[in-house]
Amino acid sequence: MKHLASQLCELDRQGLRRRVVCWPDTGGKMALPDGRMLLNFSSNDYLNLAHHPYVKEQAIRAIEQWGCSASGSRLMSGTLAIHEELEAALARLVGTETALVFASGFGMNVGLIAALASRDDLVFADRLNHASLVDGARLSGATVRRYAHNDAEALAKMMARSDCRGHRLLVCESVFSMDGDIAPLARLRELATAHDAALVVDEAHAIGVFGKGGGVARGLFHANAHGDGLMPAAIGGLAPAGEGASSAARSRNDEPLNDGRPDLTIGTLGKALGSLGGFVACSQEMRDLLVNRARSFIYSTALPPASCAAALAAVTCIEREPELGARLLDRAKAFHGMLVRRGLRLSPFETQIIPVPVGDNGLAVEFSRRLAQEGLLVTAVRPPTVPAGTARLRLSVTLAHEPADLERAADCIGRMAREVGLL
Ligand code: PMP
Repeated sequence: MKHLASQLCELDRQGLRRRVVCWPDTGGKMALPDGRMLLNFSSNDYLNLAHHPYVKEQAIRAIEQWGCSASGSRLMSGTLAIHEELEAALARLVGTETALVFASGFGMNVGLIAALASRDDLVFADRLNHASLVDGARLSGATVRRYAHNDAEALAKMMARSDCRGHRLLVCESVFSMDGDIAPLARLRELATAHDAALVVDEAHAIGVFGKGGGVARGLFHANAHGDGLMPAAIGGLAPAGEGASSAARSRNDEPLNDGRPDLTIGTLGKALGSLGGFVACSQEMRDLLVNRARSFIYSTALPPASCAAALAAVTCIEREPELGARLLDRAKAFHGMLVRRGLRLSPFETQIIPVPVGDNGLAVEFSRRLAQEGLLVTAVRPPTVPAGTARLRLSVTLAHEPADLERAADCIGRMAREVGLL
């Protein structure tokens, strides 16, 4: 297997080799063995719920009641009452008839797109869609048309030109994982309806944060269903989870919708819901179809009871404290301002995910290494996760970060950006 070594050398040469690093803790603030505190800006535990006492307690209780494994796939013996309770809670959160949970978000997306599309079908996909959506579309055998990121007008032209004998699917994220920007969902809904396409929206980074916890589309739909247009104090023109978010500029999502709902909302349990797994929120008919067709649902061990219980408890926390998402966005917006004041050239603020553009792979790694020495964990994101030439540091703000932590981090990032020659 000589080619293994040469492939690794090639990765080294391009500055693209990845390594698995072991950390002593999890979450937005990590205690190091030497007593220092590391600020972690690479955590997706946005609402700090993975460490919430109630969430931990519920996970422990589930282990005591059911053990550590569901010990079977969902269609064999692996479905427990806690799976059904969790699905009901997720459907309530997103505002759909029902939901279906999977053991991983990645596996879910692959199985889901492959279940919904096949050879004669056409999948329209944002160019920056997550790898799991890309792989699902490839596996489906459908023709895949990728449109320029968030460019609804390019998509409109593409859809108008595209002929197909089968079904059409439009697949995008609401909050993009590596850019932290928001899709023009209102326009995408219009286009999907006009071209008879099913709209599939991955809300992995929006669940718990926007739309009263139920995602960006939930915010659009909810605001419109109540006849009050889009909420005035919303980030990017969208309703954040809870009231009182900062008044960032309204975005391209401004036009109200008749029905902002996607045909299918996808989310993960491993980010703001502090657990592990994925879910689809949809109609009962769609759920029935996925139960029969999504191979990653059918042929995989069910989500463990502790993960179900933790996610269910996290949904309860969000329902009890609907202002958590707005609080996170306020903090993230303040942090964005601190970074801009220190000279960093950032895109306008949109979400809790703030990318710092670097460009060169090696420089991004060096920037990240220097920040780690200062007590900041900010992973460098390089191709193929992002397009070639757009390596970056991806900062994700969580509720574990106090305003004083963010000030310190902004100081440090500004100083290091100067040291590595970015400013
Ligand atoms: N979709 C998006 C947009 C994601 O960012 C991720 C995780 N990075 C996934 C799906 C996969 O979810 P999970 O981590 O639960 O496998």
